[in-house]
Amino acid sequence: MIIAKTVDEVRKYVNAWRKEGFTIGLVPTMGYLHEGHASLVDKAVSMCDKVVASDFVNPTQFGPGEDLESYPRDFEHDCQLLEQHGCSLVFYPSVDEMYPDGNGKTDTYIEILDDMPKQLCGKTRPIHFRGVCTVVGKLFNIVMPDKAFFGQKDAQQLAIIKRMVRDLSYGIEIVGCPIVREEDGLAKSSRNTYLNPEERQAALCLSKAIFAGEKMAKDGEKDADKIVAAMKEIIEKEPLAKIDYVSAVNGITMATVSKIEGETLFAMAVYIGKTRLIDNFIYSV
Ligand code: AMP
Repeated sequence: MIIAKTVDEVRKYVNAWRKEGFTIGLVPTMGYLHEGHASLVDKAVSMCDKVVASDFVNPTQFGPGEDLESYPRDFEHDCQLLEQHGCSLVFYPSVDEMYPDGNGKTDTYIEILDDMPKQLCGKTRPIHFRGVCTVVGKLFNIVMPDKAFFGQKDAQQLAIIKRMVRDLSYGIEIVGCPIVREEDGLAKSSRNTYLNPEERQAALCLSKAIFAGEKMAKDGEKDADKIVAAMKEIIEKEPLAKIDYVSAVNGITMATVSKIEGETLFAMAVYIGKTRLIDNFIYSV
């Protein structure tokens, strides 16, 4: 597997591949990789000739007081996992390589101006999706992939990237991949490493609420507010949990809904101690 640290190096390899007629898949990540990330690489390998993963903790998507400095990193382990899963190249740029103005700052952003990035996680993380769109847009420009792979775990991010690709005519197929969970149900996340043993146990309230909500929907409950209320009740029973939001929204626009119609996204963000975790399910009728 090639390790590329500069934009020029990435371009050199992907241009050569493209000339040979290979299709290219991109898997953007912030590193500290686990089986959730690996499932994206597996999917990309199954659909593309060459797979490029990026491993970059993107400063522009972190707000003041968030965990940019403490975000877990282990590049050696990431390389092992990526290589095992058939990744062809990992792009591991410095902050200055991605943001030449220095200090992870830029004056040029990609930002969706309607309400979509202001819903759900956008309420407490107002600059988050502007940073996500900007870095993903830059990665698209650098790699120019045929397809890019994102996890359903970050459902709002996936919807926003699809919208960005449509609005800016990127011509890249966005492939959503299902949530990979621990055996006990907790959605895999690099941030799970912040949890102490007591918090790790408490964190199960998220998946418990997700599974209960999903069962209600499958059993025919159409009242989204009732499902949200039942999910909240489960989380509120856990003393270490503090709800940021539990919401039902339209799966494409992220607008709040009170009845299940079309594709409905039930999404939550919950603090377990100081760690903010997210989880969701989609129900389509
Ligand atoms: P991150 O490194 O957290 O920015 O995530 C990189 C990509 O991996 C994103 O598209 C995430 O949605 C995806 N991802 C993270 N955790 C999971 C998971 N448990 N299952 C599936 N995809 C995931």
